[in-house]
Amino acid sequence: MAHKKIPMEHDKKIALVAHDNKKRDLLEWAKFNRDLLAHHQIFATGTTGRILEQQLGFKVVKLKSGPLGGDQQIGAKIVEGKIDFLIFFWDPLEPQPHDPDVKALLRMAVVWNIPIANNRASADFMISSPLMDSAYDRLVPDYENYVARKIDLGEKSS
Ligand code: PGA
Repeated sequence: MAHKKIPMEHDKKIALVAHDNKKRDLLEWAKFNRDLLAHHQIFATGTTGRILEQQLGFKVVKLKSGPLGGDQQIGAKIVEGKIDFLIFFWDPLEPQPHDPDVKALLRMAVVWNIPIANNRASADFMISSPLMDSAYDRLVPDYENYVARKIDLGEKSS
């Protein structure tokens, strides 16, 4: 499949999300990396964003709380090219009321080749990558053939 290049700028648009049992982990990670994060544009689901903004002292774009649609908002922004990085500490030990939304968000991140970190070790490796501080061309499959595919509507050609 052919690919398209989507440029990621030096300052990246990063989404941070954590389920309740993982919020402390994310907060510790974000505090440790505060200065690295500060020059990027940070988005977050509602509760995660409120905590991060209070504790980090810089502006976070707060969307709705995850179970109220915040995960879907982040997914939509990924589709629109308005978020290019996802750090999502989801809880592997608790079912969530919005599990379908979580799955949908992770799926969108893969469809659009967004870097995802789902735990602290991955987030550490990601934030310390030299690519964080440079422009980067993200290769996204060219979905035009998929969009233009023929659909058999069962109509007879006249
Ligand atoms: P919250 O949502 O930041 O509003 O708690 C997180 C989530 O569960 O997706």
